[in-house]
Amino acid sequence: MEIPFTGKRALVTGAGKGIGRSTAKALVQYGAEVIALTRTQADLDSLVKEVPSIKPLCLDATNTEKVTKAIEELGNIDLLVNNAGINILESFLDVKIESYDKIFDINVKAPLFIAQAVAKKMVSNGNGGCIVNVSSQASLIALQDHTVYCTTKAALDMLTKTMALELGPHKIRVNSVNPTVVLTELGRKAWSDPEKSKPMLDMIPLGKFADEEDVVNAILFLLSDKAAMITGALLPVDGGRLVH
Ligand code: NDP
Repeated sequence: MEIPFTGKRALVTGAGKGIGRSTAKALVQYGAEVIALTRTQADLDSLVKEVPSIKPLCLDATNTEKVTKAIEELGNIDLLVNNAGINILESFLDVKIESYDKIFDINVKAPLFIAQAVAKKMVSNGNGGCIVNVSSQASLIALQDHTVYCTTKAALDMLTKTMALELGPHKIRVNSVNPTVVLTELGRKAWSDPEKSKPMLDMIPLGKFADEEDVVNAILFLLSDKAAMITGALLPVDGGRLVH
């Protein structure tokens, strides 16, 4: 399937590593102009070395004031991928207030206010736009030691739906992808131990974890005109994990 993004400008958060980095590169490959936001300069340096056309933006996504100002100064944005996210593994009885604040700030507060700043521009431009939030299967199933992470992703799913409701009249579509495990840096932290990964793999009808490319393809589809009638959707990229 040809998915051209020629003439589109895209902002990808958490673009230094993992799914965000692969998404930024794929969007460039299909013709978009890409702004890559992440908080580690070395990751942006290596990304720009690989793909010189990418515009780097070194910011902590949770610094709402700075990020909003930067977005205001960016010019038109047609596509947003709200991908930056973290996890801190703790059992429910051990959840710390600091972990709660940190995970909610990055996984919920940042996507809300980044999307708000981007959507304001889209509304004033009058050309519509498209937003994909990177959620998780963890929004829909309880996972051991993932109390706060699961809760943030459930909140993100409702954010996707409420944004779709209010932004639809402005021709702005908002969807999420909800992947199963991907063995990125974040994924490896929780799932590289075979004792933990085997029961998860056993629950996935396709019998494997997702590759970054599987998630990127779903994001590209939702960003594209091929998904022109899809908004407010939570798209599992889970090999069937959520059928249980
Ligand atoms: P990685 O840890 O590989 O990459 C995350 C990227 O986000 C890094 O570049 C990281 O930068 C950046 N980032 C984190 N916090 C901030 C911040 N405050 N400001 C700016 N950038 C930030 O994770 P993944 O690629 O695996 O995850 C991407 C998304 O996919 C997340 O939202 C995650 O919840 C979701 N997801 C992941 C799954 C998995 O199994 N991997 C499964 C389902 C969903 P730095 O390294 O400098 O902190």
